[in-house]
Amino acid sequence: MSAIPNKEYEVIILGAGMSGLCMAIQLQRAGIQDFLIVEKSSGIGGTWWDNRYPGAQVDVPAPAYSFSFAPNADWTHRFADAPEIQRYQQRLAEQHGLPARMCLGTAITEARFDEGSGRWQLSLDSGETLSARFFVCSTGQLNIARWPDIPGLADFRGQLLHSARWPQGVDLTGQRVGVIGTGSTGAQLVPALAKTAISLKVFQRTPNWVLPRVDRRYGRLDRLLMGLPGYGRLTYKAWCWALDQGRNGFEEGTLARRAVVGAARWHLRRQVADPALREALAPRYPLGCKRIIYSSDYYPALCRPTSELVTTGITQMTASGVVTADGREHELDTLVCATGYDTTQPLKGLSVAGQGGRLLADAWAAGPRAYLGISVPEFPNFFLMLGPNTLTGHTSALLSLEPQVAHAVACMQRVRGEGRQWITVKAAAAQAQDAAVQQRLATSVWSHCNSWYRTEGGRIVAIWPGFARDYERAARRVDDSAYELG
Ligand code: NAP
Repeated sequence: MSAIPNKEYEVIILGAGMSGLCMAIQLQRAGIQDFLIVEKSSGIGGTWWDNRYPGAQVDVPAPAYSFSFAPNADWTHRFADAPEIQRYQQRLAEQHGLPARMCLGTAITEARFDEGSGRWQLSLDSGETLSARFFVCSTGQLNIARWPDIPGLADFRGQLLHSARWPQGVDLTGQRVGVIGTGSTGAQLVPALAKTAISLKVFQRTPNWVLPRVDRRYGRLDRLLMGLPGYGRLTYKAWCWALDQGRNGFEEGTLARRAVVGAARWHLRRQVADPALREALAPRYPLGCKRIIYSSDYYPALCRPTSELVTTGITQMTASGVVTADGREHELDTLVCATGYDTTQPLKGLSVAGQGGRLLADAWAAGPRAYLGISVPEFPNFFLMLGPNTLTGHTSALLSLEPQVAHAVACMQRVRGEGRQWITVKAAAAQAQDAAVQQRLATSVWSHCNSWYRTEGGRIVAIWPGFARDYERAARRVDDSAYELG
């Protein structure tokens, strides 16, 4: 654990991923230097620290997966891999002197708003306590790994891995490997594992929509051009605009939708010759309801003679492998669970108590919700980054993140500028904004299937229903009438 220089801060940021870094940099720009980043992992990166499985890549073009204020001239490919993104994060942190303001390898276990002082009291797993006027949760929605609920999982005597907790130095060469899960992560893992495994069984519950990933290497000329401020900025803007147009593909009857569906079907036909395998891989839910997968090597990996797509449901695990409903036992040396995240309780493991001791877990009993995904009524001076209903299914999460940071910093500045103790969103404003979002989602493509975007009760908790630019407009400026100060 890194040393904690003080016990009292103006701002404590939970998480050293993209959101935590962005928040820290913008605090510095706003002249708020008194902050600390607390991170449970031993390094910088957040999801990019956790997701170090073979083949891990960003699934939006890297120029749009950089901050608008920190273009990166060093991307080696259009779709950067996890280590490259982690290096970008590390470099940013160092440029802004952030490592000295981080407490790594430490988890916040409890956060309690003290109404007398208007400050957050935070307990750490080390037993220490900290206090801060403002508490920012920069954990995002994809940080609690979800294991599959398969009977006998604990009985498996082979190696059991989760994609989001990939240990360093694991080599599966020459092994009989199984992968459960065929989402964005599974589709990245499978091609990488298929190259070295002696046999690969991919357990698919739901076939997904896959589009080609039109990757390309960035050469010296690209890097030279990207280093020119005007060109880097233009490239960023162009990618953000083009990706946001993808939102049109989620509306029934649009030309964009017909084009995307046609491209996905063509991709499947072109890459999979075997009609039975093609049929097994054909999606049966409307495009966009789950996250679209971008891959040009997933289907070819499944077509290898050493690969098998298993579509019969899993009934149980035994000491030696997976048993499917047809009675087959699939013997494995390693089982990889690419089974995603628990997004319905994004801060599970951290007890957060606001005004009157109200627990966030209780406020979120029917699913997480927050005003613009940022502020929760009765939780003063508390801000979420990449919170509920802020993600889109079509573009970079960073486009939502930057306005959230601006929003939270503006709220902090208001409290500081007016000499107040706290700011909190009014319940009526939060309810009205939530109702408008849920109303749009109720008739959207995301209401047509089960996914990590929804709770078991059917509430869509992850998705912002519109264009990213609409969210940016809504979140960047603070509507003073939505907040109250004390
Ligand atoms: P996911 O989309 O939730 O996929 C989980 C997979 O596991 C699904 O195929 C699911 O099947 C399957 N599964 C879960 N429990 C199962 C069980 N008991 N038996 C059989 N199958 C089971 O998770 P993910 O692939 O990790 O992706 C989550 C999100 O992370 C993505 O949507 C994306 O936003 C993000 N991500 C981003 C990148 C990037 O490059 N930026 C890369 C990877 C992930 P069902 O569909 O039937 O439920």
